[in-house]
Formats: sequence, structure tokens, C-alpha cells
Amino acid sequence: MTNKQTETGKTAPVGNPVPSFWNADPRPLDDFRSTKDLPSEIDIVIIGSGIAGVGTAYHLLQDTSFKASIAILEARDPCSGATGRNGGHVKPDAFLNVPRNAKIYGAAAAAELAAFEASHVYAVKDLVEREGLDCDFNITRALDVFLNPGHAKQTEASYRELVKAGIVDLHDTSFTPKKDAERVSGVKGAQCCFSYTAAHLWPSKMIHQLLQMLLNKDVKLYSHTPVSSISGTPDENGRWTVTTSRGLIKAPKVIYATNGYTGELLPEYSRSIVPIRGICSHISSTKGADTPHLVNTYGIRFDARNNDYLIPRPDGSIIVGGARQRFWHNKGRWYGTVRDDELVDEAVSYFDDYMQRHFRGWEDSGAKVNTVWTGIMGYSADFMPHVGEIPEKPGQFIIAGFTGHGMPQILLSTKGLASMVRDGVPFENSGLPRIFKTTKARISTKRSLMEENLDPLWRTGRKSKL
Ligand SMILES: Cc1cc2nc3c(=O)[nH]c(=O)nc-3n(C[C@H](O)[C@H](O)[C@H](O)COP(=O)(O)OP(=O)(O)OC[C@H]3O[C@@H](n4cnc5c(N)ncnc54)[C@H](O)[C@@H]3O)c2cc1C
Repeated sequence: MTNKQTETGKTAPVGNPVPSFWNADPRPLDDFRSTKDLPSEIDIVIIGSGIAGVGTAYHLLQDTSFKASIAILEARDPCSGATGRNGGHVKPDAFLNVPRNAKIYGAAAAAELAAFEASHVYAVKDLVEREGLDCDFNITRALDVFLNPGHAKQTEASYRELVKAGIVDLHDTSFTPKKDAERVSGVKGAQCCFSYTAAHLWPSKMIHQLLQMLLNKDVKLYSHTPVSSISGTPDENGRWTVTTSRGLIKAPKVIYATNGYTGELLPEYSRSIVPIRGICSHISSTKGADTPHLVNTYGIRFDARNNDYLIPRPDGSIIVGGARQRFWHNKGRWYGTVRDDELVDEAVSYFDDYMQRHFRGWEDSGAKVNTVWTGIMGYSADFMPHVGEIPEKPGQFIIAGFTGHGMPQILLSTKGLASMVRDGVPFENSGLPRIFKTTKARISTKRSLMEENLDPLWRTGRKSKL
């Protein structure tokens, strides 16, 4: 593939993404294709080989009596999308967006989502242990650290209201006030912090091992096989025709695990799921074993809009992403773009001396940036992913739009989706949060809560001083 988008159009995956720390070394399944030619027909086509696509195939085959043939089609190397380019943080939201979600969807739906997210930490752990996956998985406490005094006060007040209201289970969340926040978190200038159970891991290592297991169970994988379209109607046998760069494949069931690229194949979703570009970095110290060790993962919140995410790696190095202060005032640099084949140049130097600037005890650490990369998220217009059977397209399913927050939402979503695809389980009995269900009303609304939320920033076009 060239540096441009695939020939299909504006929001298809681009060729030659900048290498991420996680995918820097070649892997045996890069370039892998199970057979030279695509099979002309198959029972289930899955488009996309990130955690959504691979997780769905994995869960489909958890029922060993299920004998369907499955092909995973991937435009680039396996797991070269967001799952291979993210922060590696499984950070369930216990309280931050709960008031917003309760306001939009009601308290019960907000609580259901918070519990679903919390259960992911142990769901990922169970998967890693059950399958013996070597992917640097670690359980940790995530610290959300607030640096702006007004924002810290507001968040504390809304946390206290949540405690009083008893909407969500906050047993695992611990609050530290200003007087101890800097010492407890290690973050300079901390005004308060919250901690709760989370995890971190090497996502693409996990996915490549799962893929290898699936290949051993006769799942077919076709990398570098972009899908350009799916027929508008099924044939007389109820099969959809999937057109790829390597020819056609017919299948009665098609699953779109296509994240921010979904609108390219399903134009009806192009307002509902928008590609958003993020930036991330890998930092390590020249002092090797003498580097101060971080035991927690972090969300560092500069104000209501700007925040970074950070995980320590077992080898002492650090992954930090965010840097919105440098480029979010300029919508064209991140909104609606799938260009992960280039950096956001104005944001790259943001990560220089990051640890020295923000963390106590790191001033003389010699910590330096090794790699910076970009990646494409799929932001949902109403903040919720779309999961389930696509309206008016029987046999076609979607699992996409996790709004930059997929690691505490996707794995169990793939389990629920697999039960719908394999056993015809209705969405309502699939174990998924009710607000994840894809519906005609959600897709056809002209309203985008996400855009309304971002609009003040675009209107002022002001660069953050942070
Ligand atoms: C920089 C960055 C940092 C992030 N950090 C975190 C984090 O720390 N924690 C967290 O929870 N979330 C994070 N996220 C979000 C998280 O990575 C995603 O929610 C999650 O990985 C989405 O998984 P997915 O399988 O849906 O999508 P992807 O991993 O993007 O997979 C979609 C795949 O579909 C393929 N595809 C698309 N269209 C086609 C087509 N037409 N033909 C063939 N193949 C196609 C793509 O090439 C891609 O491989 C981050 C994302 C980014 C970009």
C-alpha cells in the first residue's frame, strides 16, 4: 500500500502507519494470509483484527460445538490499528463520566455501564491466565490526579454527590485531598486524586497470541486485504458479497470490527462514529535500574478537557499519551482524520522531559522519549459504542465506536456479540450494557452530543496555555 488511503476512499485505513512502541518489531503474522486466494464463500467474515475483531472470533469458538468457518480480513498488518497503538491501560470509569451518563441515559444505565467496565479488569486477567498469554499484564491502582484547583473542587463535589446518591458501587474508589495528594500520587501540584483498581498490558502481544490460537483452530486470516464494499442486498441464499483488494467473498454473516474506519464501509454510521487521531509516546531512562519506579497508572487531568494517560512498564519505561493542549485547538489536526502514517508534529516535543516536569523524584532520572506515534480512535456521537445487529441488514453486525476507551469495554462486548451471532441471543440477553445497542434512532439522529461537547473549543479556536 502507498502512503495514501487505500483506493476505497476518505476514511479507509492508510498504508505505512508510523511504528508504535508495541509493534516496532516484526511478528510472524504480519503479512500472513491463510491461503493464497480468498475462499469464495465462508460462514462468517470479520472485518478488522483489533481487539474487537479478534475477541469476537475468540468468543465465537469458545463453544467447541460451533463449527462455522470464519475469516478475518485486515487492511494492514494484524493489530496495527488502535489496539496496536494505544496506551495499554485498562482503566474502568468508576465515577468521572457517571453524572454525564446518568443525565443522558438515566441512573440505572449509567450504573450498569460502570459495573461492566469494572468487571473488565478481571475479565482480561482471566483471559490472560486461562490462555497463558505472555503480554506483561499487571493489576494496578489507577490514580486520577487533578491539577486545576477549580476542576479538582468540582470533581470532588460531584464524587461526594455520587456517594450520597448511591447510584454506582464506589467501594473500590479512594479519594485523597489536596494536603496529601502530591505525596500520595507523586505528581507535582496535585490538587486531589482518586484511585481505583485497573490494569495495564501489551495489547498487541495479547492479540497476536490469540490470533495464533485461532489459526490453530482453522480460523482464516488475511492481512493486507482491505475491504472496499459490501453488497447492498444479500443474494438469494442470504449471503452478502464482500469486495476486497483480493477478490470477492460471500458470507451470510459479516461483522464490522472497524473502529474509526466504519463509515467508509457503512456510510449510515459516518456521523455516528468519527475517526479521531491521538498521539502517544514511550519514555525510558538512561539510568536503567536506578530509575524511580511507579507502582500506579495515571490519568493526569489538567482541566476538564486536557488530560494525559500514563502507564509504567515492568521494565521501568513509561507510556504516556494525550498532549491535547498542543493540537486540539486546531480541529483539522485530529478530527475526522485517519492519518496515522504521520505524527502530529506540533505535539511531539510535548513528551520531552515529561517525567521530570510532572513527577517528584524524576528530576535527575535522565528519562528521554524513544518513540512517538499516532493512532486512530472511533469516537461515538453519543459517547456509546455501537454493538449488535445492524438495522435493516440481517446477518450484519457491528462492534465499533469505543471512543478512545475500548480496553475496559471491548472484551466482554465481544463475548456478548458472539452469543448474538452464534446463538441468535437477543441483545437484551447478551450481558451488554443496554446503551451499547446499535439502533436506527441512534444512527439516524442529526444530533451529536460529542460535537456539542467539543463545540466551545472549536468556536474559540484558542490554544491552551497549558
Ligand atoms: C493513541 C491511542 C491511545 C489509546 N489509549 C487507550 C488506553 O490506554 N486505554 C483504552 O481503553 N483505550 C485506548 N485507546 C483506544 C483503544 O485503543 C480502542 O478503543 C481499541 O483498541 C479499539 O479496538 P478495535 O478492535 O475496535 O479497533 P482497532 O484496533 O482500530 O481495529 C480495527 C481494525 O480494522 C481494520 N479495518 C478497518 N477498516 C477496514 C477495511 N475496510 N478492511 C479491512 N480492515 C479494516 C483496521 O486496519 C484495524 O486494524 C487508545 C487509542 C489510541 C489511538
